[in-house]
Amino acid sequence: GNPSVRLVEERLAAIEGAEDALLFGSGMAAITTSILALVKTGSHVVLFADCYRRTRQFVGQFLDRFGVAHTLVASADVEALAAAIRPETRLVISEAPTNPYLNVVDLDAVARIGRERRVKTLIDATFATPLNLRPIAHGIDLVVHSGTKYLAGHSDLCCGAIVGTTRMIERLRHHAVMYGGSLNAQDCYLLERSLKTLDLRVRQQSHNALTVARGL
Ligand SMILES: *Cc1c(COP(=O)(O)O)cnc(C)c1O
Repeated sequence: GNPSVRLVEERLAAIEGAEDALLFGSGMAAITTSILALVKTGSHVVLFADCYRRTRQFVGQFLDRFGVAHTLVASADVEALAAAIRPETRLVISEAPTNPYLNVVDLDAVARIGRERRVKTLIDATFATPLNLRPIAHGIDLVVHSGTKYLAGHSDLCCGAIVGTTRMIERLRHHAVMYGGSLNAQDCYLLERSLKTLDLRVRQQSHNALTVARGL
């Protein structure tokens, strides 16, 4: 634990409209920690097929070695998601928007299916940032970020985050300190600096991207 890290966790939770947050040394540390904390041998995971390549490799190749099965469903196909859930399914993983194809799944539908079938839902919202999308408000259980991208925004640090309920974050914190993907206080100081300009940066980047898109 570290008070500088804790301060930024609280700020990030506030921006996301979530109860709590947990910071990591990279986006993949946040993703692998949250997945490992929620599955065990015999579990099943549903993953949308156009998720980040490293996440797909982790679920498809690494988890398989530990007896955790998975089903890939087509991008944004919530009917396929509902059909893929089994009694031993523990987790649904998606991204909004996906990297690099920028598909956005119907988050309300994913959250509803998760609640009805008692399966946790996780959204990687790296590309959206909390300014453009707050999946918690749609009923999603956990949101992860590669903070290395827009949250940090200066190409001078690597970090990741998970946001969710106090209860879930406490459970994940326990795993996070064991796996060791912690964020150091110096990088946290840089992240805190970055968050001050997140609103300005994302607004201008969105404006520029729209101008380019209209031009094309
Ligand atoms: C970059 C990225 C990651 C991995 O994050 P790192 O901070 O590089 O570990 C995970 N998910 C998405 C959507 C990304 O764009």
